[in-house]
Amino acid sequence: MAQDNENPDGAVLWRAFYDEARARFEAVGNEFAAIDARRIVEEASGAEPGEFTLMLDEFARERGVAHFDHMLTRRLAGEPLQYVLGRWGFRTLDLAVDARVLIPRPETEGVVDLALAEIRDIGDRDIWVADLGTGSGCIGLSIVAENPRVQMVCTDANDKAIAAARANAAGLGRPARRIEIRQGDWFEALPPERKGDFDLIISNPPYIADDETLPEVVADWEPTDALFAGPTGLEDAWVLIDGAGEWLRPAGTLVLELGETQLEAAAARARDAGFVDVSVHRDLADKDRALVARRP
Ligand code: GLN
Repeated sequence: MAQDNENPDGAVLWRAFYDEARARFEAVGNEFAAIDARRIVEEASGAEPGEFTLMLDEFARERGVAHFDHMLTRRLAGEPLQYVLGRWGFRTLDLAVDARVLIPRPETEGVVDLALAEIRDIGDRDIWVADLGTGSGCIGLSIVAENPRVQMVCTDANDKAIAAARANAAGLGRPARRIEIRQGDWFEALPPERKGDFDLIISNPPYIADDETLPEVVADWEPTDALFAGPTGLEDAWVLIDGAGEWLRPAGTLVLELGETQLEAAAARARDAGFVDVSVHRDLADKDRALVARRP
C-alpha cells in the first residue's frame, strides 16, 4: 500500500481501497471493474454518488473497511453487484434486493412507463392495480410512488419474495398505506371481491424456457422460480393472458413483460382471449419486451 495513502495512525485513504478493488476485478476479467469498484467503495464509505471523488481523499473508518472487504469478497466470487450492495435503484426508488428476488432490470422500468401511461387519464377516483408475481415489489411500488390515486395489490407465490416486497413497501412510508401484499398463485392471490374491478393488471412473470441457458451471473444467483416458466417459457404468460379478462373492469388493461421472441404469440393469444387494442412495445435495446391489451 502506498506510503502517502496512510496517516500516522495507520488509517488508509478510500482511494487505496478503490484501487485495490479495481485491480482485483480487472485481474479476474470483470469488464465493469471500475464501476463495480466505485459502487462498492461508495456503499462502504456511505458517500452519496456526487461525493465520490471527495470521499476518495478521506480516511476509511474501521467499520467501512470491514464492509468493503465483505463486499469485495462476494463480488469476486461472482455474486451480482446488486445483491452485494443489497440495494438497487429502480425508477424513483432505492430498493432492498437480495437473492430472494430477481434483480430489478432497466427494461422493466420501461414496462412501468407503459402502465403509468395507461392509467394517467382515469378520472378522479381510486385506480385499482394488481402486480402479479411482484418479487422485490419494484413494479407495484413504483406505480404507487408515481401515481397518488393508485390502490395496489402486489402478489407473489413465494413467501421469501413476499417478505422482501413487504420490507420494500415499508420503506416507502405513507404511500405504503395504498399497498396490500398477498401470497398466492397468480389470480388466486387476489381478493375475490375485486373480481372485475381492476383498472390494470401488470406482471413480469417467469418467461424463460426450461432448456434455455442464461448467463452465469443470472443462472447461478437469481431465483430459479422467478425466471423459468416451464418447457416453452410461456406457461405463466398463458395463465395471465387467459385469466386477466375476468379480473379487469371493462376497458381495463393488461400489461405483461415477456421475452423478445414471445410477443407475437402473446399478442395472438390475447386477441383469442377477447382483448382489443393489443400492442407490442420495444425496450431501450430495441427488443420486443411488453404486451399491452385492453378488455373491451
Ligand atoms: N429478463 C430476465 C432475464 O433475461 C428474465 C426475467 C423474467 O423471466 N421475468 O434474465
